[in-house]
Amino acid sequence: MQTPLPEYEIYAIRYATREGFRRDNFIGGDAHDGPMPMDYYSWVAVGSTGAYVIDTGFTAEMARERKRSFLRCPVDSLALLGLEAAAVRDVILTHLHYDHVGNFHKFPNARFHLQEREMAYATGKYMRYPRIGHSYHVEDVVGLVRLNFKGRLEMHQGEVEIAPGLTVHPTHGHSDGLQSVRIHSKRGWVVLASDATHYYENMATNRPFTTALHVGQMLDAYRTLERLAPTPRHIVPGHDPYVMQEYPAASPALANVVVRLDLEPIHPALRFGGPARH
Ligand SMILES: [Zn+2]
Repeated sequence: MQTPLPEYEIYAIRYATREGFRRDNFIGGDAHDGPMPMDYYSWVAVGSTGAYVIDTGFTAEMARERKRSFLRCPVDSLALLGLEAAAVRDVILTHLHYDHVGNFHKFPNARFHLQEREMAYATGKYMRYPRIGHSYHVEDVVGLVRLNFKGRLEMHQGEVEIAPGLTVHPTHGHSDGLQSVRIHSKRGWVVLASDATHYYENMATNRPFTTALHVGQMLDAYRTLERLAPTPRHIVPGHDPYVMQEYPAASPALANVVVRLDLEPIHPALRFGGPARH
C-alpha cells in the first residue's frame, strides 16, 4: 500500500508593500492605466517533518534603499506562527532577486535550495547591465556564494522533491533560474508561483510582468503552473495584494498579515476581461 502524501499547512506572510501603476506591471503597458499596488510575501509550509521557508524577503535597510514600505521583518514574523528561524532546516529560494533572498543570513542552521541555473545567472555576464542586475543585491549574491563554500547550498537541476509532498519546478523567464514550489495540502496541490506570475492578471491575460529575461519562457511558465495545479484556484501569484483578501487569516489578529493557503479561498476568483489570450 502506498503511503499517503503528507499534508502541509501553508502560510503567506505579507511583509512589505508599494504603490504602483498598471503600466508598471505589464509588458507593453496598459490601456487603462491606474493604481496597482504590489505586496511582498514570504511563504512557509509546515508539516510533520518541520517548517520549510520559501523565500526570505528583504531587510528594513533594503526597504529604505529601494523606497518600499516595510511592514514587518519576514523572519521575525515566523514567531507569529510559533516558529523560530534557528529551527528551520530547509529554505527554498525561488530565485535570487533582492525581494526573495534578503535575510538569508538569519537562518543559521538551514540549507538553501536553489536552481543551479539561477546561481549561474546571478553570477554571470548579464549582471553588468543595470536593467537586469538592478533586481539583485550584490551582497546577497556574494553571501550565497559563501554559503556554497560552506556546503549549505543545494543547487538543483530541474524538478526535484525537497520532501514528500513538496517539490520545486523550473518556471524560467522572469529570471533565468526561477522555480515555483508545489506543496501538498488538505485541499490538494497548492502551487506557489512566486514571480512566475506576479499578479493573477499577468497569467490570466498572458501579459507578463515588466521584469523579464525571456518573454516566451514567461508565457510557457504559465502553462507549467496550469499543469502543476489541479485548478487555477490552487495557483498563488507572487505579489498580488488580493491574496490577502482571498484566503482566510491564520487567526483573527493576523488579518492582512498572514493567510492560510492550504484552506479554501473565502473570496471569489478575480475576473479579467475576456478569455485568456494564448
Ligand atoms: Zn519578486
